[in-house]
Amino acid sequence: MASNTETQNGEQGRHQEVGHKSLLQSDALYQYILDTSVYPREPEAMKELREITAKHPWNLMTTSADEGQFLNMLLKLINAKNTMEIGVYTGYSLLATALALPDDGKILAMDINRENYELGLPVIQKAGLAHKIDFREGPALPVLDQMIEDGKYHGTFDFVFVDADKDNYLNYHKRLLELVKVGGVIGYDNTLWNGSVVAPPDAPLRKYVRYYRDFVLELNKALAADPRVEICQLPVGDGITLCRRIK
Ligand code: SAM
Ligand code: CA
Repeated sequence: MASNTETQNGEQGRHQEVGHKSLLQSDALYQYILDTSVYPREPEAMKELREITAKHPWNLMTTSADEGQFLNMLLKLINAKNTMEIGVYTGYSLLATALALPDDGKILAMDINRENYELGLPVIQKAGLAHKIDFREGPALPVLDQMIEDGKYHGTFDFVFVDADKDNYLNYHKRLLELVKVGGVIGYDNTLWNGSVVAPPDAPLRKYVRYYRDFVLELNKALAADPRVEICQLPVGDGITLCRRIK
């Protein structure tokens, strides 16, 4: 039997493709999860969208297949119907959400970039899910402010997935706590930020990783101290922190 190291080296080509999508220390173990439990159960539309996204130059941004499966399961477990997504890119997490919601479910989806959303849109349309999505092009913060001012959206969302500009997460949090219902969930993505949350000060980090790291550290501290939510930080993908509003 090959040793772990041999297996990992032998599969290096494949792991380069997926290694950055998980913080799991063993590439072989991560590949095992994908091959055993994720890819065989991945809906055809999600597979198609994942393959389209893989060809896009910014594919590093996409939600991984295992995290997509997790989100889909979570939404079903909480019976989510009215949801929001901040940061769509080509729509992999959006599709995972749309597949989980009932036919009259709704997703308010926001991104400053419509072009990338439109890359995945044909897959969403073909799957008969486009009617669940209200896509708004532009920065999310003014939309949240508008909804709060409006008044009628208070406490109406079952679930919000935040996967956009990390320097705004605390600004989103402040507003989302008014918009999500008591008992509802906000999922903040990338809260382990490439593992950089524990990197020593002199560690060689990519420029964007270094730049956003302080915002992620500040967010993690603030969420841990926030009495309005119960939290659970999971090492899925690049780390996701679930916040359940309790007051
Ligand atoms: N959830 C997506 C998926 O499953 O593929 C990945 C989202 S990607 C990591 C982050 C996205 O946030 C980018 O598409 C970017 O255009 C968007 N974004 C950045 N700043 C934003 C803002 N202020 N408001 C809304 N979207 C923003
Ligand atoms: Ca993400």
